[in-house]
Parts: sequence; structure tokens; C-alpha cells
Amino acid sequence: MALIQGLAAHAAGAELLPFRYDPGELGMQEVEIGITHCGICHSDLHLISNDWGISQYPFIPGHEIIGTITAVGSRVRSLKVGERVGLGWQSNSCGECEWCSRGLENLCASLEATCVHRNGGYANSVRANSRFVMSIPGALPSEQAAPLLCGGITVYSPMRDHGINPSSRVGVVGIGGLGHIAIQFARVFGAEVIAFSTSTGKEEEARALGAHHFVHSRESKSMKEVAGSLDFILNTANADQDWNVYIQALRPTGTLCFVGVPPSPVSVQAFPLIGGIRTVTGSPIGSPQKIREMLDVAARHGVKATTEAFSMAKANDAIEKVKKNKVRYRAVLSN
Ligand code: NAP
Ligand code: ZN
Repeated sequence: MALIQGLAAHAAGAELLPFRYDPGELGMQEVEIGITHCGICHSDLHLISNDWGISQYPFIPGHEIIGTITAVGSRVRSLKVGERVGLGWQSNSCGECEWCSRGLENLCASLEATCVHRNGGYANSVRANSRFVMSIPGALPSEQAAPLLCGGITVYSPMRDHGINPSSRVGVVGIGGLGHIAIQFARVFGAEVIAFSTSTGKEEEARALGAHHFVHSRESKSMKEVAGSLDFILNTANADQDWNVYIQALRPTGTLCFVGVPPSPVSVQAFPLIGGIRTVTGSPIGSPQKIREMLDVAARHGVKATTEAFSMAKANDAIEKVKKNKVRYRAVLSN
């Protein structure tokens, strides 16, 4: 087998340098993907700097992958060489536990993430178990589809699980890679959508993506005006905020759902939870079945990421721009 050529961080927070590795024999259930595009999810930045204490170096980031199948293992029947496919955060699961049997592989305790203790998609190729490799609908262009494989499913799945529908009022906190896709899916589900952002300059674009209202989340007066008005708030921001203000924005029985990962523990007052039976919860990516559904919905309803293209060789420049919250709205690397 040929060596795989990628870009790796060799220490926490280090810039990415060219790095080759030998992938070994292709597993019977595995496929190899020749990568054309890979989105830069903020989780890649968390992993590069070892924010979660799980990174191993050298570390090749990347888990929003689109490419073409270049090899299939002897037991793979569902995918063919030459097919255009996608791969997201999850590359494998045990396949046997209660959660895998229920089709909730994203809850498997043995979940293998594409770029945790494995080599990810800032590379020319990647391998994964074929169960986690999805065919991509023809209507979705590769660059705009890549971010759906992690960012898209991560916002789609909890909105489906929480039954978002035309009667729902949905808040999206943080209009970045995940948030700008969340606005679009919330609109597809028929909800009234409120974008919460620290960047006033994003108002026009948030409205164009489908938000009915835009709230500058650093203005306490604007935050007070939405008190008691929302059924579901999806936090996609990766920063600490006063979560009590968002709890106050919920109607009784409303839910604040975390997909973005703030650095500090989430602290909320108990009384608004008790008095209004409000819930604080979280959600991890989505199952392979949900990813397939999400791609189909995106293709039929025109949901796609707004992207900024970078060549793979410019990955470090792209990462710097993501760090500064300057990308509108997803940086995508291409080979
Ligand atoms: P991103 O593109 O960098 O967007 C994050 C957004 O958060 C920014 O655009 C910004 O929106 C907001 N933000 C940034 N700094 C802030 C601050 N100091 N205060 C308040 N808001 C701030 O990141 P992403 O790729 O969407 O990822 C977001 C988070 O989701 C990350 O923590 C990532 O690890 C996590 N994630 C989780 C899952 C999962 O399965 N749960 C999957 C993928 C990613 P505004 O400019 O609008 O304020
Ligand atoms: Zn991600």
C-alpha cells in the first residue's frame, strides 16, 4: 500500500507540517477514500490544542470529508471504487452493543472518531469502516457538502430528536460553521428562527440564511426582550456565556441544547428549570442513518454550507482565520 500524505500537528497547538504514514493492510470492512475536500470544524482546533486532553501527536485533523472511493475491503458490498462519498466524525463502532443494534451508533461506548487516535482528513486519503461512509446526493456540490458531514448532522440530529416543527420557536446561538447550517435546517422544519450572535456584522447574512430575527447576544437589553419566548435553543458557540440568560429566554418546557463546547462547566440557576420544567441537554453528531436522511433533506431543500475555499497546503492560514472567527462560514480545504 502507498503511504498516505497528510498535515499533522506534532505538539499541542503546533502548526501543521507535512507528515506521511503507512496505513497498513486495508481491513475487510474498510474503504479508502481519495480526499477531494475537507471542512475545518472547530473541533479540529480543540484537538490541535488538546483542549479535551484526548489528542495524540503527530495528529492529522479533519473529519468533514468528501472524496472518491479508491479501494474497498473484501467484505464491503455497499460501496464501489469511483463512487463519491462522505465521512464525518465517526469512523467505526462496535456494531454489537445495545446502541449499535438500535441504530444509535453515535452513542456506542467504543465509538472511533475519524481523527482521534486515527489519522484524519487533512490528507490525500483516509480510511474508515464502510458503515460510516455515505454516498453523496448528486445535487450537493462537494465543497458545500463537506461541512454537512459533521457540522450539518450535529445541528440536524437534535432538532429532529426534539421534534422541531412549524409551531416551534428556535434560537441558534453562535453563527459559525454549525450555526449557519442550523438556521437553514430550522427553517426547513418550518420553525420561527432567532439567531443569537456576538457579531453584529452577521445580521444581514443570518437573515438571508433564514433567520426571522437577529439578537446581539452581548446587549443585555436585547436579550431581555426575548425572555420567555423560545421552545428550543441550540448552542453552537465554543465560548463561555451567561447560560441563565438563555434559560430565561425559554418558554415553559423549553430546552437549551449544547452542541458547542464551552471551556468552563455550565452553571445555571435551578428555579427556572423547576418552575418551567425547562431542560438543559446536549447532543453528539448523529447516527449513520440520520446522516443519510440529513443529506437527502439537504439535497431536496437546498441546504448547503457557505464556504471559503483553501488549498490543502494553506491549512495553517485557514486555521488562523477560523481562530479569529473571520470565516464566513466554513473553511474547506481541497486537494
Ligand atoms: P466556529 O465555526 O468557529 O463557530 C463558533 C461560533 O461561536 C462563532 O462563529 C461565533 O459566532 C461564536 N463565538 C465565538 N467566540 C465567541 C464568544 N467569545 N462568545 C460567544 N460566542 C462566540 O465553530 P464550529 O465549527 O461551528 O463549532 C462550534 C462548536 O461545536 C465547537 O466547540 C465544536 O467543538 C463543537 N462541535 C460539537 C459537535 C458535537 O457533536 N456536539 C460536533 C461538531 C462541533 P458569532 O460570531 O455569531 O457570535
Ligand atoms: Zn466536527
